Formats: sequence, C-alpha cells, structure tokens
Amino acid sequence: MHVDLHCHSVFSDGGFTPEQIAARAARRGLGAVALTDHDTVAGWERFRAACEGAGVEPVIGVELTAEEDGHEVHLLGWCFDPSHPGLAEELRLCREARRQRIHEMTDRLGRLGIALEAETVFTLAGCEAPGRPHVAQALVREGHCRTLQEAFHRFLRKDSPAWAPKRRLPAARAIELVHAAGGVVAMAHPGLTRRDDLIPRLVELGLDGLECWHSAHNRTQAERYLALANECRLLITGGSDCHGPAKGQPLLGSLRVSASHLHALQERAREHRTFADSR
Ligand code: AMP
Ligand code: ZN
Ligand code: FE
Ligand code: FE
Repeated sequence: MHVDLHCHSVFSDGGFTPEQIAARAARRGLGAVALTDHDTVAGWERFRAACEGAGVEPVIGVELTAEEDGHEVHLLGWCFDPSHPGLAEELRLCREARRQRIHEMTDRLGRLGIALEAETVFTLAGCEAPGRPHVAQALVREGHCRTLQEAFHRFLRKDSPAWAPKRRLPAARAIELVHAAGGVVAMAHPGLTRRDDLIPRLVELGLDGLECWHSAHNRTQAERYLALANECRLLITGGSDCHGPAKGQPLLGSLRVSASHLHALQERAREHRTFADSR
C-alpha cells in the first residue's frame, strides 16, 4: 500500500477541495493521504468524511512556516489533536498574520501604482489562510500581470518590491506545540530549503522525521536525505506537496511512499503520548 503525506486543499493555497483529493487518491490507489494545509486544519472534517466514503485512510496534518537560526524552514505535523488549545491558538495567530501580510503586500503594490484591494485577494482566496499565490492570482485576474510567474517575478518573490515577510514560528515552539498536541513533526522538502546544516539542531529540538521523497527532489536528493535520515535517526516521510491542477498534471498520487512510513509516524506519535501521560 502507498500513501501521500503532503498535500494542500482550497482551505489554503491548493486547487482541490477535500472531496476532490479523496476521490483522486482513491483513483490513484493510495491507501492513505495526509491533508497538510498551511496554518489551518479547517478542511479536516470534510476531508475525513470524504476519505471514509472513498475508502482512503485520512491523516490529519498541517504545514507550519518556522524559523531556525534566521532561516525559514517548513515543518509538517501529523497525528495531532486538532482541538488542542495551544496549537489551535497558534494556528489562528498565523492565519491572522497571513491576512495582515496581504494588507502589507497590497499597500506596497499601491505605492507601485498597482491598485489591488486586500479584500479582492481575500474574496478570491476564499479561505482563512491566504498567501502569495492568491495575490498572484488576483494580479492576473485584475489584468496587472499576464501570468502567475510574471506576478511572482515582478512583485512577489522574496525581496522584490511588493514582498512582505511572513510570520515564522521559532522551530522549537512549532515542534513543542505539535508534540504537546500529541503529534509528530518532520522537516518538509529539505531539497528546496537547502539548509541541511540546520538539521542537527532541529533533531536536538525533537524533530521526528525528514521528508526524503518530495516532487521537487530528484533521485540523488532523495538518496541523500534517506542516508541523512538514517544517520540522524529520523523517520522517513514523503509526499507530493500537491497544490491541485494549477501547474499541469496534479501531483497527488505521483509519489508512492510505502505505508510502513506512515505506520512508523503513527507509532512514534503513540510513544510521545504514552510518555507524556506517564509524566
Ligand atoms: P506564501 O506561503 O504566501 O509565502 O506563498 C508560498 C507559496 O507560493 C509556495 O507554496 C509556492 O506554491 C508559491 N510560489 C512561490 N514562489 C513562486 C513562483 N516563483 N511561482 C509560482 N508560485 C510560487
Ligand atoms: Zn502551499
Ligand atoms: Fe512548503
Ligand atoms: Fe506544502
């Protein structure tokens, strides 16, 4: 059996509804899928119901934007209790900061002579976790840019004129929160982050796993991260990071990760909880 442990829905910047993800997962023969929207679990109940209907095991997840030593790292959390107050509150603050950031970016666009209302972006995003992809879509839809790539290139990529920094959780805090909520944490797409030097520190902070397989990793990278996971005693994870049909063929189901890796994560989460209960 194969699983996909990283994908996004319309509840953040993905293009598929939870139901579309579940249906596609079933068609592609996946046994389990984790929904890992940015900063929100608002899609979880719908995803769980849709997966149960489709015969796919749903896994709760989230992708957090964290920071270690001044560098941005993305952390994936799974198997936590979504109603844990500390985690829920921190996610709410992250979403609030996302909205604030959209205001900052539209203000900056205004100063560049591009009139785009933050409200236009929020309406287009239609979710609580709006991000740069939604600003890019709004710029295209309003006729300011021809393509999403152009929007990123001219305005939104890091350090370009309308870019604004995103709120990042200290990695220690992110890891601690997911653990407190009974879950496990892995570093997402290390091949995109390119800060392998941070991994030993993240391990000290309690990191459980490393996303060795990812759509943007080539075979050499996957092998490198599998070896690194082994060396650092990290669990191996993998996911497509599917954002829907936006960039050609949807990625969901293109990556086939053995279910044994999900089982190891679930086992680790149980161990954490048993340890916490015994204290
Ligand atoms: P945010 O979380 O708001 O900073 O947005 C990050 C998201 O923007 C990433 O998940 C990518 O999907 C998308 N993104 C970043 N750079 C580009 C780019 N050059 N072209 C298209 N999408 C991008
Ligand atoms: Zn995303
Ligand atoms: Fe990411
Ligand atoms: Fe992602």
